[in-house]
Amino acid sequence: MDKRNVTTHPGNWSRWIDTADRKRIRAVQDQKVSRQARWVYTNSSYWREKFDEANCLPSAISGVDDLTAVPFATKAEYRTAQSERPPYGGLLCRSREDLYESGAFVWETSGTTGEPVQFLCSQNEYFRVDVEATCRILWTTGLRPGDTVAMFWPLTLWAVGHGIVDAARELGMTVFPLGPSYSSEYRVEKLAAYQPSTIMTTPSYALRLAEVASENGFDPHALDVERVIVSGEPLPDGTRTAIAEAWGVSERVFNYYGLSEAFNCRSIECEEHDGMHVLEDLYLCQVVDPDGRDPVSEGETGELVVTALEQRDIASGFHYRTGDLARFTDDPCACGRTTRRIKIESRKDDMKTIRGVNVFPQAIESIIRKTDSVADEFRLVLEQVGSLDRLTVVLEPEADLSEEHYESIQDQLERDFEKAFGGLTVMVEFVAPETLERFDFKADRWVDKR
Ligand SMILES: [Zn+2]
Repeated sequence: MDKRNVTTHPGNWSRWIDTADRKRIRAVQDQKVSRQARWVYTNSSYWREKFDEANCLPSAISGVDDLTAVPFATKAEYRTAQSERPPYGGLLCRSREDLYESGAFVWETSGTTGEPVQFLCSQNEYFRVDVEATCRILWTTGLRPGDTVAMFWPLTLWAVGHGIVDAARELGMTVFPLGPSYSSEYRVEKLAAYQPSTIMTTPSYALRLAEVASENGFDPHALDVERVIVSGEPLPDGTRTAIAEAWGVSERVFNYYGLSEAFNCRSIECEEHDGMHVLEDLYLCQVVDPDGRDPVSEGETGELVVTALEQRDIASGFHYRTGDLARFTDDPCACGRTTRRIKIESRKDDMKTIRGVNVFPQAIESIIRKTDSVADEFRLVLEQVGSLDRLTVVLEPEADLSEEHYESIQDQLERDFEKAFGGLTVMVEFVAPETLERFDFKADRWVDKR
């Protein structure tokens, strides 16, 4: 493990790559992609079979552009491979016994979209890549030795929480793991007792926690949180603003992306909040046509494909199709970094096509968050009425809103939705306050009755 003294890197954990010119970054990535192609072909039966089936020679992959010849990996394929060849589906590049011998780190996907997929690497690789990446992530948000972090991710076989706890400790911070199975009320009490400077959770739960604090007599602004780092769901602008207002942190809401399958591929916003910086010496993030395989241009929406560039023990992060819809830019950021920035728009399977219109829940969420007098939670109910699909947004009014105002808010929201979705009629329905179940983890707001 890298034992650098962090205080010798003021303000920038990894300046050499963060501020390198694009040609230099590309040269580093070309060399690493070529090496990874040979490595996964030689050491993983899963990839050897895929390359052979596609008549693709690893020796022909000399850089990033050549990846167009390589088949994609997907989570569905990992599931099939792991059920046919348990437990790792031919993805391991070293024997399980060797990895256990040196002390291993085992992790799984969160299981929110089906049977979890499992992974294994040595402790050495875990610290060298994943914890290193997480240290850089925390550093970019302005966290420094001596800071205090409350983390609401679970410490289970899901990797994200472990990386944060280990990185925070490595950086000389104090971390409070407040994930499951604590109640929200207990978590609020701990925030008041320990007064951490930073909280890390999903966007939905950041809002929920502020709501629980208020319900239990704590003013969230008086809890002195300075920074909120959110991950696990896309972050529409309206939600970002709602979180900033709920906690009184103004510009210090940082969006953070991590993906278990691709060695936790971590990226983070800087203080400019204009896309998440990719750690480009550790991960290659490409964006391709969601229905095909060709790369899309800078600024266009497509599906994010990740290649972990320093993963040797298991080949789960090679040319991996994430199912996340994203855009990228390589323009230099106002913060001085030159690394690629990505914006995650939605999960691909979160999109529903209603009467020919593509509807993302984040677009609806953003409108709701900008509307006064409605609570943060909502549901999106899809039904078939005759031969047509109907979308109803189910909302709660804020407790002090009188019923005479319901109608004008309903009308306003229906007009806003119609405008946002090219004329599509969206119904708005109120239920009593505190009726809709809240999410402690990743939110899933679609109720598809079709
Ligand atoms: Zn930046």
